[in-house]
Amino acid sequence: ITILGIESSCDDTSASILKDGIIYSNIIANQTVHMDYGGVVPELASRAHQQNIIPVVHQAMQKAGVTADEIDAVAFTRGPGLLGSLMVGTSFAKGFAMAKNIPLIEVNHLQAHILAHFIDDLKNTYDHPEFPFLALLVSGGNSQIIIVKDHLEMEVIGETIDDAAGEAFDKCAKVMGLPYPGGPIIDRNAKQGNPHAFEFSRPKIQGLDYSFSGLKTSFLYFIRDKVKENPNFVQENMNDLCASLQYTIVDILMNKVKRAARETGIKQVAIAGGVSANSGLQNALHEAADKFNWKVYVPQLGYSLDNAAMIAITGYFKYLKKEFVGQDTAPFARMTIK
Ligand code: ATP
Ligand code: FE
Repeated sequence: ITILGIESSCDDTSASILKDGIIYSNIIANQTVHMDYGGVVPELASRAHQQNIIPVVHQAMQKAGVTADEIDAVAFTRGPGLLGSLMVGTSFAKGFAMAKNIPLIEVNHLQAHILAHFIDDLKNTYDHPEFPFLALLVSGGNSQIIIVKDHLEMEVIGETIDDAAGEAFDKCAKVMGLPYPGGPIIDRNAKQGNPHAFEFSRPKIQGLDYSFSGLKTSFLYFIRDKVKENPNFVQENMNDLCASLQYTIVDILMNKVKRAARETGIKQVAIAGGVSANSGLQNALHEAADKFNWKVYVPQLGYSLDNAAMIAITGYFKYLKKEFVGQDTAPFARMTIK
């Protein structure tokens, strides 16, 4: 079976070819037009998707050595994401499926971030989690703790009541004058800083839910006050600020994961989504693994941020169950995991 995966939920246009369960190509076109704006500009994003989609699909087929006639199904991100961005990928997928008279498979982008853990590619086969496992899904738009019971059966047991972890990274980065997306830059600077140099407030939220908006606000006020005394405060303390902020966010994330593991008795933990690339989070996860005897999974490089390989693998699992949709399908910007 050969599947074409399409991802266009935010600001990356991506296409991937999966053949008999293995990823043959995963082409990602990043958009640079947003850098000057401190965030993704929806209208610019959908225009860039329109320019990128055909060349990206071409490259994915070329790299995989597959022609359009050899593709058996098209999987696309239906949501969640920016409506105008989703529209481009969805329309392309519908057109392609209709032209080639092949099945169309809709994919939930969040489910796909988690199923990225089941990818094998031409270079490697990886160690995949066993069911049931806990997933910490941390991205630009979501922070959730999920029990993954099967490829397509997931239960959300905790989630953010306001901002996502990636949003906290990006918004605090903006306060420090760093460009978008600030998460990876904070990660880089943090490696040179002292995580205990500054202390920031932590949310007091019951159960397994998260909250990050309070941290963002207290960080903003803290910086504002310090800059009043010393206009160069941020520049002079950049690495310590990044290290302390990252330490706080990672600690908030890990505390609830530990609680979830305790409450469910599940000892396999996978992290997924863009923030799973964070080195502080990965280190904390491995520490917890040693301490609590967990088996942990970190996504392979290239499969943690938005990509179409994760859409193709999810499409493959749905193909095996014949979960197809018709031409009347439409993007769903606020799609959730059940
Ligand atoms: P969603 O998947 O919820 O729809 P999204 O697709 O915008 O949101 P992703 O592409 O999965 O999100 O992740 C992007 C986020 O990951 C950004 O907020 C970015 O700052 C963050 N991020 C990426 N790398 C790192 C890193 N090394 N450390 C911290 N944050 C990171
Ligand atoms: Fe994403």
